[in-house]
Amino acid sequence: MVDLDVHQGNGTAEIFEKDASVFTFSMHGEHNYPFVKEKSDLDIALPNACGDEEYLTILKNTLPELIQVQKPDFIFYLSGVDVIASDKLGKLALTPQGCKERDRFVLQTCFDLQVPMMCSMGGGYSADIKIILNAHANTYRLAQEIFFS
Ligand SMILES: [Zn+2]
Repeated sequence: MVDLDVHQGNGTAEIFEKDASVFTFSMHGEHNYPFVKEKSDLDIALPNACGDEEYLTILKNTLPELIQVQKPDFIFYLSGVDVIASDKLGKLALTPQGCKERDRFVLQTCFDLQVPMMCSMGGGYSADIKIILNAHANTYRLAQEIFFS
């Protein structure tokens, strides 16, 4: 499980906590809900106002190695777009372009390492719904570009 929604993947962390066959990875806002976090197999808690560069550096330094070590048969990717700075609930500060680059990196990494994957939309609470729609659409546009062209 690769959960990049701004909120910790607390549900899946708890459900699979004792299941060694499922590895849960969550990268989320340290000061976002849930305030008492569950324990994923790997949690990376990010500070408030974490921007594109810091976020993408951490992701790039983590995900490929994690996949190479864990050798997953399949990845569920939760692609919440509430990491964007305009989000009313999220406390991170990615730009829409940074969010798109996040998705591109996850998808391209899965493609390059030949791990089957699926995307599931997560949160998005920007006041301007066009930001949310465009960010979610980007995930699927990139999947089309990377996997099917
Ligand atoms: Zn969320």
